[in-house]
Amino acid sequence: MGQLTEQLEIYGQVEVGSSFKDMTTFRIGGRVDFVSYPRNMFTLSQLIGFLKKNEIPYKILGKGSNLLCSDDDYHGVIIRLDRTMNHWYFDNNKLIAEAGSSIIALSVFAARNGLSGLEWASGIPATVGGCVFNNAGAYKSSMIDNVSRVLILDDDSFRWISNEQCEFAYRTSVFHHNRDWIILAVELDLTAKDESEIRQMMDERKKRRLESQPLEFPSAGSIFRNPDSQNAWSLIDEAGLRGLSYGGAQISVKHCNFIINLQDASAQDVKSLIDLTVTKVREKCGITLLTEVEMFNWSPMKIPHPSKR
Ligand SMILES: Cc1cc2nc3c(=O)[nH]c(=O)nc-3n(C[C@H](O)[C@H](O)[C@H](O)COP(=O)(O)OP(=O)(O)OC[C@H]3O[C@@H](n4cnc5c(N)ncnc54)[C@H](O)[C@@H]3O)c2cc1C
Repeated sequence: MGQLTEQLEIYGQVEVGSSFKDMTTFRIGGRVDFVSYPRNMFTLSQLIGFLKKNEIPYKILGKGSNLLCSDDDYHGVIIRLDRTMNHWYFDNNKLIAEAGSSIIALSVFAARNGLSGLEWASGIPATVGGCVFNNAGAYKSSMIDNVSRVLILDDDSFRWISNEQCEFAYRTSVFHHNRDWIILAVELDLTAKDESEIRQMMDERKKRRLESQPLEFPSAGSIFRNPDSQNAWSLIDEAGLRGLSYGGAQISVKHCNFIINLQDASAQDVKSLIDLTVTKVREKCGITLLTEVEMFNWSPMKIPHPSKR
């Protein structure tokens, strides 16, 4: 362990024995052998080369706001970009941001500089990289509307790919099928607008979120994808599941497409609620809900393929 720590420290700061509880918005999950914070994109590239050569498992984490990590310990390296690769700069109306930048901080910065386009993102507790990965969105806007191109690390080469090449669609992108690619930076196209108008829009969005979402509890946002032309929350409500608890987890009373960590919930508590919801909604409405939240570090036995649910 000590020797590997020293080796990893070549590429950046290293933490030993952290927990997914401290790295995800759900505040749930097992311990992690190593967390690495690469100094920059070049040491990140070297780090990936080292891990691949030595067959050490790794995973890039943003703010962990779309992850349900299992209660098992993770024997590998979690790579985080949010401490070091979090800079951005302007080029006229273009904003170029490193992948570890907070999308909330970026949207506030854009507003302050009279640039419109990221108002929808001002309440999403995520990194820019995570938002590109998932084509995060809200209020009928999403990353597809802002991204002009993305700088990626593909194997050991750096290259830009266009918006079209990102294959953005509802909460997905080309990165879902190319798990090896790492998003390094994003170029966003924004529009000049009066700062007070942008602020007003952001304030309205914030008010709506506070009124409709259980932000006072740890969660991972929406648990299920909305099926075609339907809202997952209304199907869950129709199945009579609003407020249902299992262990320390609960289907939120305020917004029933949120599962909240009410009291020291385990990942298994949350998963039991997910499985129950899928079964009950299918029985009641004939629709199979698919998860939006990503299950990470679960043994394949415990996480059946959605189509087999
Ligand atoms: C309170 C709350 C509200 C939310 N509201 C919304 C909402 O309105 N709209 C919405 O779309 N989502 C929402 N979410 C969900 C979540 O914020 C998004 O899915 C977001 O895109 C996840 O970003 P992240 O940085 O936290 O990524 P993580 O959850 O850390 O990671 C998600 C995936 O992205 C991958 N990834 C992250 N960074 C990189 C990178 N640089 N290169 C390659 N892969 C990478 C990870 O490996 C992982 O597979 C909400 C979540 C919470 C907790």
